[in-house]
Amino acid sequence: MPELPEVETVRRTLAPVLGARVSSVWWSGKNLRLGKPLALPALRKASKGATFEGFRRLGKYLILDLQDRPKSILVHLGMSGRFRHFPPDVSQPAHTHVEWGLEDGRTLRFTDPRRFGNVELVTRGRERDHASLAKLGPDPIDGVVDVAEFQQACSRTKRPIKVALLDQSLVAGVGNIYASEALWQAHIHPKTPACKLSRPRCDRLVQAVRQVLERALMHGGTSLKDFVSADGHAGEHSHYLWVYDREDEACPNSACSGTIRRFVQQQRATFYCPRCQKY
Ligand SMILES: [Zn+2]
Repeated sequence: MPELPEVETVRRTLAPVLGARVSSVWWSGKNLRLGKPLALPALRKASKGATFEGFRRLGKYLILDLQDRPKSILVHLGMSGRFRHFPPDVSQPAHTHVEWGLEDGRTLRFTDPRRFGNVELVTRGRERDHASLAKLGPDPIDGVVDVAEFQQACSRTKRPIKVALLDQSLVAGVGNIYASEALWQAHIHPKTPACKLSRPRCDRLVQAVRQVLERALMHGGTSLKDFVSADGHAGEHSHYLWVYDREDEACPNSACSGTIRRFVQQQRATFYCPRCQKY
């Protein structure tokens, strides 16, 4: 599932379509996330005839701004979504659900076999009015995560820290892969109640989150299955993961002789080292 580094990789690799003008908008007719139909007339009105002015990211959401248009396009890649630009005359891949034809013959396509992703509109400048964006915490890459505020937010929940990290309100953009990675790096057990984290441990975790995400971004994100950048390249970071998907392998901490273990928290796999990571 695409997390901050993957969505940021897509944002950066959309650069070649900056300034391109939209000539058509097409929808497959299939419902996306939450089973809601795409608001096609509104999407056409928002984008047809306009040029792409900028691409932004809020947490795991991608925002496409169009010149002189009040609405921006909000894209969430869900589990298996891809958002790519294609040269002219490249036929539509399977599972394409939204396609923007560009005046120069290129296309921008949202494909999503599992259809957990979404394409919708937000009012530019008022993105935070959108329910999913309103609760987003600070961005560990674009912004600054204040450790005191982080600890205060942690103190309000008894949930295990791994679960709390996934809800996007402590910090934006961390999902299942990088939560395991960051907790390993910070030497914190994934089941530790968030409210029990001391200030030094919060400090370590905030730093680890940023480092883990920056490191993944440097490798173009993690492609376990579906993810590719907007120009079609798979991320390289799966080769560099420390604990995620490494059950029964030796802990990568050279000072540790532990073995990586896996367990399930809220239906999501968690990977950790029982020797390095304490409650
Ligand atoms: Zn270890």
